[in-house]
Amino acid sequence: MSALFQNYARRPISIVEGKGTIVHDSTGKRYLDFTSGIAVCSLGHAHPALVSAIQAQSEKLWHVSNLFESPDQEKLAETLVKDTHLSHAFFCNSGAEANEAAIKIARKHTGKHHILVFEQSFHGRTFGAMSATGQDKVRNGFGPLVSKFTTLPFNDVEALKATIDDSVAAIMLELIQGEGGVNAVTPEFAEAIQEICNENDILLIVDEVQTGIGRTGTRFAYEQTVLKPNIVSMAKGLGGGFPIGGILGTAELFETFNAGTHGTTFGGNPLGVAVAQTVLDNVFQPEFLANVQQKSKYLVKKLKEAFPGEQYTIQGKGLMLGLSLGGEDVAPYVGKLDQAGLLTVAAGPTVIRLLPPLTVSEAEIDEAVAILKSTILE
Ligand SMILES: *Cc1c(COP(=O)(O)O)cnc(C)c1O
Repeated sequence: MSALFQNYARRPISIVEGKGTIVHDSTGKRYLDFTSGIAVCSLGHAHPALVSAIQAQSEKLWHVSNLFESPDQEKLAETLVKDTHLSHAFFCNSGAEANEAAIKIARKHTGKHHILVFEQSFHGRTFGAMSATGQDKVRNGFGPLVSKFTTLPFNDVEALKATIDDSVAAIMLELIQGEGGVNAVTPEFAEAIQEICNENDILLIVDEVQTGIGRTGTRFAYEQTVLKPNIVSMAKGLGGGFPIGGILGTAELFETFNAGTHGTTFGGNPLGVAVAQTVLDNVFQPEFLANVQQKSKYLVKKLKEAFPGEQYTIQGKGLMLGLSLGGEDVAPYVGKLDQAGLLTVAAGPTVIRLLPPLTVSEAEIDEAVAILKSTILE
């Protein structure tokens, strides 16, 4: 019997090494990694710049805590907010923690605690983040949950309008629901949200834990919408495989999040910050982002050619794409794709999620689409 709790439905593959988009398992079998560790390894596996960043930092300083000043955290924060309407950052270690910080700051700033969230959303597994998550399978068995989150249907302007009153502190959403099925916010819904937030002094929290750091072809997904979030949470792609998360916030929140309000021992740890800075120095280059968009177009075109049938739909943006097989359960296909040498991850029961490293090549895309086609259609 395993000495591990069986809280993950693990697949029978032990990956032991990776380079770029390619990983190998303990038997030497090769796979194209179109999961990137669930949108984490943004620069692929063992990127030389990340390897040297962590090596250099590991010989200098591992940890000092937030008792002391940190010029490296300052620089990382500046890189993240540069040329945005956001002005301050706080660093932590994961997506759930980033959302906890977002929820805390929103409550303290507004003096209210009612937060509107959406069905099929995923915000993490800690109590606040879990309570914000609009999926029973995540929440069941853990009650009572943190009050007070109201779960509304996604992309439903009328339902949202009908719920707005003086009690609402914030609206919290993902712009493309990752775990929930690669469902993008509609332009109409985004417009309605921004208008409602402006008119009612409601804070907007955008969870960019999965969509952020270049994943959708821009630094953050909100840049492709009319939304101007007050708080953005991030994690997954930020450290390229090293655990680091954080939030970005607007200037008005500066006084609220003052000394003693919140913190975490490992937040902004020098190793994580060195790696994240290197990720951003690459990903936030306009040419890099243009390349992600170009690769996305190429992958979408190839998928459409391979799956011309009406039942197939391709969802998402950038290199966060979903292939829906017309309502069919995708779990058996994900297993077959593993065997055929292409690692993917389901999004909800009916969508195959494709999250290649942002550095994926066209040749690797060709190979992945050929495997998808032969595995699913033949
Ligand atoms: C993965 C994810 C989280 C949770 O992040 P953890 O690092 O697993 O805590 C939160 N929100 C979104 C949108 C995610 O995709």
